[in-house]
Amino acid sequence: MRLPDSIEIRESDGKGLFAKKSIKKGSIVFHFDGRIGDDAHTNPESLQIDEDKFLESTAKFDDFLNHSCEPNCYVDWHKLDLVALRDIKVGEELSFDYNTAEYDLIDMVKDCSFRCNCGSKNCIGEVRGFRYLTSEQKKRIRKFISPFLKKRFEQ
Ligand SMILES: [Zn+2]
Repeated sequence: MRLPDSIEIRESDGKGLFAKKSIKKGSIVFHFDGRIGDDAHTNPESLQIDEDKFLESTAKFDDFLNHSCEPNCYVDWHKLDLVALRDIKVGEELSFDYNTAEYDLIDMVKDCSFRCNCGSKNCIGEVRGFRYLTSEQKKRIRKFISPFLKKRFEQ
């Protein structure tokens, strides 16, 4: 998995991915090409797609994609692409909403919840996973959640 020309890794809160070129709304930023496995969800960088289906971390640049409560990207769960949610300017940090991918960040091998500093007016503060969102917060991100979360949400 090669770092696309449009992106660079820079220091953020830890490391982050930043736009090196402007990225148009709706365009594919990159494709997640990690292995699809059925292993237990042990790695906070893996993404849960379905009950027993995980996109494993590639241990490459995609692990530096940070969370925002008002992200500029989302995951297309069918194609496993990261897609620009709006036009992104040069120098902007790329982000997606971890709550669209993670059911429970606390109940993992180690507690992976964290305090969000995204500064958006809809910032939820503590990022703990979809499970802990209010029903209003769940509704707000419904369009972008993984098939796995959608199943849970519709139960
Ligand atoms: Zn936030």
